[in-house]
Formats: sequence, C-alpha cells, structure tokens
Amino acid sequence: MKLLYTDMLIAGLGPGGFTAALYGAEALLPGKVTIVSNIGSQADTTPEITNWPGVPRMSGQDFQKMINDHFEELIIKYHDYLNVFIPARVVGVELAAKDQYMVNIRHDGKNQYVLTRALLIATGARNRNLKGAEHFVGKGISFCATCDASLYEGRKVWVYGSGNTALENAIMLHKHVSSLTLAFVTDNISGVPDLARRVRSLPGITIMPQTEIVSVLGDANLTGVRFKNLATGKEDVKALNGLFVNIGMDVNTDPFKDIIETNRYGEIISRGRGRTSLPGVFVAGDAGSGSKKQLIIAAGKGADAATAAIEYLTSIGPFTPCADCDQAYLSPQILSMLEGDKKEKIYSATDVSDDEFFEEVLTHKGYTILDVRKNGCPDCEVAEQFFGAAKEEHGEIKFSSIELDRNSLAVEWVRNNENIQHVPTFILLFDGKEVARRVDMEQPWKVIEELIALTEE
Ligand SMILES: Cc1cc2nc3c(=O)[nH]c(=O)nc-3n(C[C@H](O)[C@H](O)[C@H](O)COP(=O)(O)OP(=O)(O)OC[C@H]3O[C@@H](n4cnc5c(N)ncnc54)[C@H](O)[C@@H]3O)c2cc1C
Repeated sequence: MKLLYTDMLIAGLGPGGFTAALYGAEALLPGKVTIVSNIGSQADTTPEITNWPGVPRMSGQDFQKMINDHFEELIIKYHDYLNVFIPARVVGVELAAKDQYMVNIRHDGKNQYVLTRALLIATGARNRNLKGAEHFVGKGISFCATCDASLYEGRKVWVYGSGNTALENAIMLHKHVSSLTLAFVTDNISGVPDLARRVRSLPGITIMPQTEIVSVLGDANLTGVRFKNLATGKEDVKALNGLFVNIGMDVNTDPFKDIIETNRYGEIISRGRGRTSLPGVFVAGDAGSGSKKQLIIAAGKGADAATAAIEYLTSIGPFTPCADCDQAYLSPQILSMLEGDKKEKIYSATDVSDDEFFEEVLTHKGYTILDVRKNGCPDCEVAEQFFGAAKEEHGEIKFSSIELDRNSLAVEWVRNNENIQHVPTFILLFDGKEVARRVDMEQPWKVIEELIALTEE
C-alpha cells in the first residue's frame, strides 16, 4: 500500500471522535476524512447512563449499540468521503511538509503512513493502575467488574477507590466473591450518594476509608496488599486473590506528546474549539485539557473541533492530491459491510460453541490462538476487532474465542485448567495444550502479534 493522503485524520472513535467523524463526513471534504480507531468508548461497561439528552436511562452497552448503528449508516452514506482503518491505532505523528502531518498507524499487523492536512485527536483515556503493579494485570489486578467479576467466584477481593466506577464494581462483585472490601484514601466515599448508599447496605462488605495501598504483593500472581491507615500511620498486610483498581484514568496521548503541548496530567492543552499548540492539530474529549470528562461534553467538543478543523482546511487553501499517494482506503470489514455481507463482521467472527470447543479446538492439531472474552467488556471488544483482523491475515492458524456467559462448559474447563483472572486473555495452544499466554488491555494487537510470532519460530 502506498502513502495515503487525506484532508483530516481523526484518531479515536469514542463519542468525541465519532461526533467529529459525523461533522467531517457531512463536510464532503475532497481529500476525505480518515478514521483510525477501534469502535467503542470508555463507558461501554457502565450499567447506567442517565445524562445523555433524550434518553433518561440506558446501559453503556445500549449507548455503544446506538453509536455502532449510527456509524454503520454514516459509512454507507458517506463512504466516498471516508477512509476507514478499523481496528487500528495511531502510534506516532511528526510534522512533515508545511501544513502536513505524517501519522504512523498500526493496522492489520503492519505500519501504514498517512499524510494529513488536519489531525483531530480524540483518543480518550484508560484506567490508571498502581505504580509497579503492571505485571499483575490479569494475574489478580482488574479494573472492570462487568468483565471479570465471574472469574473471582468465591475469592477475597478489594476494590480500591470510592468514585462511581469503584462503587459500581463493588455492587457487581458482591454477588460473586466470598469477601469484599472497599478501601480508599479519602475520609468519605466520593461517588454519588445513591451508589454510596447501595454499597454501604451490601451485607458483609468492609469499608476502609483513609487507607492507602503502599505496595502489591505476589510473585507470578497477586497474593495481597501492604496498606497504610492514613489516620494512624500504621501499616499492615492483607492476603487477597483480587484487587480492582479504580483510582481514575490516564489519557491516551503518548503518540502525540513529542510534538504537541500537554499539561502535567498528559492532557493535550486545548485553546478553545479544540485548537492545540500546533496549527491544524485539534483535540476533542477526554484527551484534551479543561473540561469535565463526560460523554456529552466529549461529543460537543468533537463537533466543535471538527468544524474548527474544516474552517482551518478552507483557510489553508484547496486540497491538491499528492501525485504518488493513494486517496482511498476502507478496511476489509467495512467493505464487506458495504457489500451487504453482514455487519457482525466488523465486531466478531470467531466465537465457538461449547461442543466446538471440546471437539474442534482442543483436538486441533497445530496452533490455535484462543481468546477468552466476555460480551460487554470494552477491552474484549477492542481485542476482538484486532483478533478478527489477524484471523483474516493468518489462515494457517486456528483462531477461536469463547465467551464467559455463553460457553459455560468451555469456561469451566479454562477456569479449572488455566486459572484465567481477566478478560480478554489470549492463550496459544499447540495440539490443544497451552504453550503461551498473554494479557494486555492497552495494545491487544501487540500481544496477538507476539503469539503469532511464536508459531513461526
Ligand atoms: C466506567 C465509566 C463510566 C462512565 N459513565 C459515564 C456516564 O454515565 N455519563 C457520562 O457522561 N460519562 C461517563 N463516563 C465518562 C465518559 O465515558 C467519557 O468522558 C467519554 O467516553 C470520553 O469520550 P472520548 O471520545 O473522549 O474518549 P473514549 O470514550 O475514551 O474513546 C476513545 C477512543 O479512542 C481509541 N483510541 C485510544 N488510543 C488510540 C490511538 N492511539 N489511536 C486511535 N484510537 C485510539 C479508544 O480505543 C476509544 O475507541 C464514564 C467513564 C467510565 C470509565
């Protein structure tokens, strides 16, 4: 594939990026809008959204379904004005010629370079982990009870934090675990009163204010925490099987930080209408500075930044295509959707039934990459998009996924034999036996590529 040349590149497809894409598509830009992301937002796992205008109450999954349906309509209506790389990630950006940015994206296991006249960053945020605890993710540390609660059946678990996410996680975990503690550094619960009241009334829950986790303990798996009582200064140790860390979010701005001004939280500094320190680069949503992190605010900022970017493009003059460049790209999944081939293809194409798992996956001679996932888990949905793309590319490997709520027998087998503590988890099997395992919430494509590379050794 040659260098792609475009008018506007939008990184991220949460509410900020999606709204920017709507405005960008409707502008019918001659150099097209290029969208680079997976599909999904941070709020996918939340049980209840009550502040989206016109919809008094819906779940995060319902919200995402609305966006998915709208996105599909957008692609069908405006496909002549869009380039779509899904699933994909922006991994770097540099200033190219005057008024042009060279964006490096990771797509289908390859690097692709896109030269763009305007760049709109809407890459949002991700869960913050405790320092030094990175290697325990999937080995005792989790963030999302919607995803992982059922993997902690009968275990001892702490939720660390007291905001709404921590409270929702505590409510969800309570049904599964044998012992539940909510620990947090502040004097009082900081989430909304209704959730706080529901958490306080959970039978058997221990609530520990003024508690700071000093370190996490364990070797291969998390075995406990060392914590400090901030009122007395006394330290103690508690044995645990699981720790749900809900202490805020970090912004996804690493690929842009080298050239664009950020503040001490890593947020890209937004100077009104999403303008940043560089001409032609705009930011929307949680990745930017200044505003409260909310769905409707991200969407509003996406609209504002996109219209500012369109005005900027008009101000620098008409689009003149680069002689050696490509002008169009649509992911195979999007093309098959346009051909009426089935929209599920964008999201998933690899789930097996319990029977297929025992009769085909475990008996398969050769390599299988198994994705253990759960519907409604945003990391799983991101990973599934990269997993599906890798499957298309590597016909020599069997790719299969099992789903926590659907494949009770397969999941029981995996839980008993593999001690899975997090979804998504990828397991490389050879002749039905595990040879490697990877868990990664940030860069699922990277871990899938690592497992593919192991099959080539
Ligand atoms: C558990 C939870 C519950 C919430 N509940 C509510 C609520 O009830 N009401 C409310 O108003 N707000 C809620 N929020 C906040 C709300 O979800 C965010 O403010 C909003 O999603 C921000 O939108 P965004 O488009 O900026 O980013 P995000 O939603 O974070 O989307 C960013 C997108 O960019 C993609 N991306 C990341 N890095 C890259 C890259 N390098 N290249 C390309 N793409 C990339 C991501 O995968 C994602 O698709 C909640 C948040 C959480 C975590």
